[in-house]
Amino acid sequence: MPECIFCKIIKGEIPSDKIYEDDLVLVFLDISPINKGHALAVPKEHYENLLETPEELAGKMMAVVKKVAKAIKIITNAEGINIGINNGLAAGQSVFHAHIHVIPRYLNDGYKLWGSDKIYGPGESQILAEKIKSEIN
Ligand code: 5GP
Ligand code: ZN
Repeated sequence: MPECIFCKIIKGEIPSDKIYEDDLVLVFLDISPINKGHALAVPKEHYENLLETPEELAGKMMAVVKKVAKAIKIITNAEGINIGINNGLAAGQSVFHAHIHVIPRYLNDGYKLWGSDKIYGPGESQILAEKIKSEIN
């Protein structure tokens, strides 16, 4: 993927503040952080998003994220950590190379994730749950 910005970061063609690297996963600081220490964990191989990433590799990414998140929390004195993945334009994905956000959070930092509403009609959630269940393989 010659045009992919994260592939360029992985190859060292674009500089980044790296905080972790192994043979499969690279973690570096986000250039436009929500809070200082906001990092991105990416597979070294290009996959468009998490849904396209092989299961074993996704598992390895999560293991790295857990380790890195603990270090970020300590060093930034974060009160909480969001671990988030945007998959697809509609979900807010802007770089189409799979990545996991690790975001230090503070009680009064003012960021909001998503609100929630009661949008199911009577019995609707049970039907939907059954449909999703039958699609899982
Ligand atoms: P997304 O919106 O796709 O979930 O997240 C992409 C993230 O990549 C954004 O938070 C954005 O700030 C970060 N980003 C985009 N370009 C660069 C870059 O060149 N270097 C670094 N370090 N982060 C980048
Ligand atoms: Zn890429």
